[in-house]
Amino acid sequence: MGTEILSFDVEKIREQFPVLNQRVNGYPLVYFDNAATSQKPRAVIDAISEYYQTINSNVHRGVHHLSQLATDAYEKAREKVQLHINARHTHEIIFTKGTTDSINLVASGFRDLIKEGDEIIISALEHHSNIVPWQMLCEKIRAKLKVIPFNDMGELIQEEYDKLLSEKTRLVAFNHISNALGTINPAKEMIAKAHAAGAAVLIDGAQAIPHMAVDVQDLNADFYAFSSHKMFGPTGVGILYGKEKWLEKLPPYQGGGEMIKTVSFKKTTYAGLPHKFEAGTPNIEAGIVLGVAVDFLQEIGLENIAAYEQELLEYGTQRLMEFDFMRIIGQAENKASVISFLMGDLHPYDVGSIVDKLGIALRTGHHCAQPIMDGFNIPGTLRASFSFYNTKGETDRMIEALKKAKMMLS
Ligand SMILES: *Cc1c(COP(=O)(O)O)cnc(C)c1O
Repeated sequence: MGTEILSFDVEKIREQFPVLNQRVNGYPLVYFDNAATSQKPRAVIDAISEYYQTINSNVHRGVHHLSQLATDAYEKAREKVQLHINARHTHEIIFTKGTTDSINLVASGFRDLIKEGDEIIISALEHHSNIVPWQMLCEKIRAKLKVIPFNDMGELIQEEYDKLLSEKTRLVAFNHISNALGTINPAKEMIAKAHAAGAAVLIDGAQAIPHMAVDVQDLNADFYAFSSHKMFGPTGVGILYGKEKWLEKLPPYQGGGEMIKTVSFKKTTYAGLPHKFEAGTPNIEAGIVLGVAVDFLQEIGLENIAAYEQELLEYGTQRLMEFDFMRIIGQAENKASVISFLMGDLHPYDVGSIVDKLGIALRTGHHCAQPIMDGFNIPGTLRASFSFYNTKGETDRMIEALKKAKMMLS
């Protein structure tokens, strides 16, 4: 692995992210809020402009030249995503607005597939967008929502999961990587257990997709959801991967243009996959440019990215532990490059505001995962989430800024 990292030139990579090269409050920007959204490489930024300057047109509608070009580019992007996550078929890739939209699509469709008394299992490590849609579904159908608890390290307790699974379980939904703690969940094993109980599985992959190679067939996930904006692509588009057999079973999500075969007032028939789930004009430019982001990731290589980010994680953890009264929330054995922490009884918001004055972008708060904070009995944390364009030098800058904040606040 060490020799591979030699080919990983972070300074070269940083040159491709123009936003990083600026001062904030007079200091060079340190962007450590990658779990909220990622920055965009020049290739992505340029491709957006290029699209509008050359082929902007509506997709799937016209026979004219530009419409053909836009349609081809859009479908090409779908294929790139398919290959990137190793889906079996291109039509198993549905363009959505993002992870939240993808999860809502599945939750809304499951209204037709579950009945009163059935059970859905989620985990206590979820982002709100993988909690609320299931709560809404369960309330509507009077199904039961069960929650896998986590231990002090921030790992899901597998024995408790085993106990929750039963012949009543219809669906299990959990994240591949926790955005709040960085925990990497043993997705493949958990999916196999759900399948043994006869349940379908949705994986929220929003945090996994920018940090590790994902193979949906190897995982054997039934659904896998993620957002373009967290994987260096544009905002406003995301992906729902679904196994063909499950996408066939789900009813359409929204009605409108593009998702139909024929429309009459007597009876409307729906289009096949993937168009059945893609009503209306999509975010064409963002879909196409997501394909460019995929190319970019593949060029660097997710193995290289994961290895480099592990170094950043280890270094950041080690440096933070130099502080007295440092509390790192989430110390899972398998962890991605996210560090949630508290400094004694200093309020995360106060610390975050001071380090921002020194150019350091950290996230403060509950990270859209209030149940996790409740589980640890804390109101929120400071969070540093690293990407492959970050450096150990930036971590040193963060440590200096935190020292200053600590002095000012205590
Ligand atoms: C960001 C995130 C989401 C929500 O993604 P959107 O792009 O806001 O729809 C869901 N789950 C996890 C784990 C996330 O990190």
